Amino acid sequence: DTLLEVEDLDVRYGDAQALWGVSLTVGAGETVCVVGPNGAGKSTLVNALAGVHRASGGRIRVNGADTTALPGHRVCAHGVAVVPEGRRIFPRMTVTDNLMLGAYRKAARPAHRESVATVHELFPRLAERAGQLAGNLSGGEQQMLAIGGALMARPALLLLDEPSLGLAPVRVDEVYDAVQRIAATGSAWSWSNRTWNARWPSPPAPICSARGGWCPPARPPSCATAR
Ligand code: ADP
Ligand code: ADP
Repeated sequence: DTLLEVEDLDVRYGDAQALWGVSLTVGAGETVCVVGPNGAGKSTLVNALAGVHRASGGRIRVNGADTTALPGHRVCAHGVAVVPEGRRIFPRMTVTDNLMLGAYRKAARPAHRESVATVHELFPRLAERAGQLAGNLSGGEQQMLAIGGALMARPALLLLDEPSLGLAPVRVDEVYDAVQRIAATGSAWSWSNRTWNARWPSPPAPICSARGGWCPPARPPSCATAR
């Protein structure tokens, strides 16, 4: 099943063109790594896919839906979650509250609990530190928390921007190991679908927080340009 289709994508920052004619297809359950030197446009691609920065040409489809012109929070509603560069967590909130924010808006409480439990299964270190302030976690743990927060929205497509940046080699291994485990749990969060199916006939729609750090808010282009 094709999850993501990108056709001939162009992205500009004002007069400067950062991406020309990017086309790619990603299947459900697939893990894709985008590599390139600094300035190649990796973050630009991630931000365009997440709706943080609007593409100037071409087309993006997620699960068949055209998301090219949608703002971030609506792209999120199509099952796309992004973990931006730099471990965006809320340091003065607990680990659990950080996770809850990832699904805060629409989920019923039982749904929160199921999702937190599943994130804890994937990241046992987060379970051990559930009540601690996120700012007290190590760098590697903070990155896992950022990823866990994104997973709370049960995305079909998880975008990670430089997830291992600034981490010690052993933590880099942990983060990529976690990514492999996430991918192995199946496309479109089949892990939680299994849980959901026990209670509801179909999984709930993806949850989207317009102001949480993980589903990008609909930022005006001026904001993206002021980097
Ligand atoms: P990478 O993530 O591969 O290092 P980026 O996507 O950050 O690359 O950058 C791609 C190109 O776009 C670079 O030339 C960069 O200077 C430019 N660029 C990135 N963000 C902005 C921005 N907000 N405003 C203007 N130019 C930008
Ligand atoms: P890493 O190798 O991931 O960078 P650190 O040396 O930063 O690990 O942290 C080692 C352990 O100490 C981690 O379990 C982390 O949760 C804990 N820790 C780090 N900083 C603090 C802090 N300021 N307060 C409490 N515990 C901390």
